[in-house]
Amino acid sequence: MRSTAFVTAACLVVLGFGAHAAAQRGGAAPVPEDPVKPLVDRLDLERYKAAIKGLTQFGDRRQGTDRNRAAVDWIEAQLKSYGCATERVKYEYRTPPPNPAAAAGRGAAPASAAPPTSAGGGRPRGIRTRTSVNTDPNLQPDATLRALNTPPAVDGPREEVYCTKVGTTRPDEMYIVGAHMDGHGWGEAANDDGSGTALVMELARVFSSPDVVTDRSIRFALWNNEETGTNGAGAYVQQRAELQGKENPPGSGRYPEPKWLGMIQHDMMLFDHGMPLPDGTMRKEQRLEADVNIEFQVNSKMALQSQTLAWVFHVANEKYATDYPASVGSHMTNTDSGRFQDVVPSISLRENQRGTEIGSGWDPQWHQPTDVFTTYNDLDFRLGLNAAQTTLGAVAQLTGARLKK
Ligand SMILES: [Zn+2]
Repeated sequence: MRSTAFVTAACLVVLGFGAHAAAQRGGAAPVPEDPVKPLVDRLDLERYKAAIKGLTQFGDRRQGTDRNRAAVDWIEAQLKSYGCATERVKYEYRTPPPNPAAAAGRGAAPASAAPPTSAGGGRPRGIRTRTSVNTDPNLQPDATLRALNTPPAVDGPREEVYCTKVGTTRPDEMYIVGAHMDGHGWGEAANDDGSGTALVMELARVFSSPDVVTDRSIRFALWNNEETGTNGAGAYVQQRAELQGKENPPGSGRYPEPKWLGMIQHDMMLFDHGMPLPDGTMRKEQRLEADVNIEFQVNSKMALQSQTLAWVFHVANEKYATDYPASVGSHMTNTDSGRFQDVVPSISLRENQRGTEIGSGWDPQWHQPTDVFTTYNDLDFRLGLNAAQTTLGAVAQLTGARLKK
């Protein structure tokens, strides 16, 4: 112990001497101020929680219902109040006919010597529990919430909202920051995906502040119909991919669809209590090793570029996240960024790896009546806040964000 203290003291002396000598030579170079840090500092836990709480007033926000449409209106009103210019994507959604192959049971596949593979790739390990989507209203003990969630989805027109921060010098290029606002399972979809929706809304608030400028543009997208198969994000890609980078009207300096530089999805941000315990129950508190999982898809056309983007976010986490570290994985799957993964660098941020961990039962609230605001405590909410700090820090760097002088 003593020798360590001695070495530390000796180092301090050397460092102190160096600084002193530099000052004598006419001044050490001033440390440049980090323009991003003051922006990250504008995030806080209570605001993030309030945004999640606000979303839960619309119950599960199931697509194709009045409660979903009311949530889209409410999100748009919030974005407008931040000064972020909103627009909507419109599309039709029809429930696909039942798939007879699925009904016959995929479990009948012949036994294989290969180890089991999770959705998106990767091997599930350790203790696993069954996952499912709850469809039984009676499992929701709160009668008011049960009534709110009762009207069923009806096929027909759908809308989703996005808003854009326009860059000053490169308005023709943008990063897309997204989450899905629809949910199901007879709860409040608080974590899946109120937690990601609130994160995107909070970033829209910070970047839209009148004293913030960015070189490049940023689009904040709240997808609808994720739970039916990422249909809202699919409609966006289908309708808008071809518009990328086109000035319209010509000579106006306006780009209705700036060129996509990256897509960053946020889906289930709060709950990292580890794998199920041997008796199938879970730890009661956030595990001490909790982290933000940044995933790209190794089997996509943009795998290398997406991996590079993932590491930029990892570095930003180390610099800006206050509590929880991040890890990078290669099996991004089952969320809206999948619609972008072959055309633009794409990553997702989550509480756990989607395929090998969430798919193995690491989140017992997933698509269940228990996915309500009161299930989570501040250790859980703080994981989502750390993901917000990570994305805000990375996107601010990538777009040249800073406070106006
Ligand atoms: Zn989700």
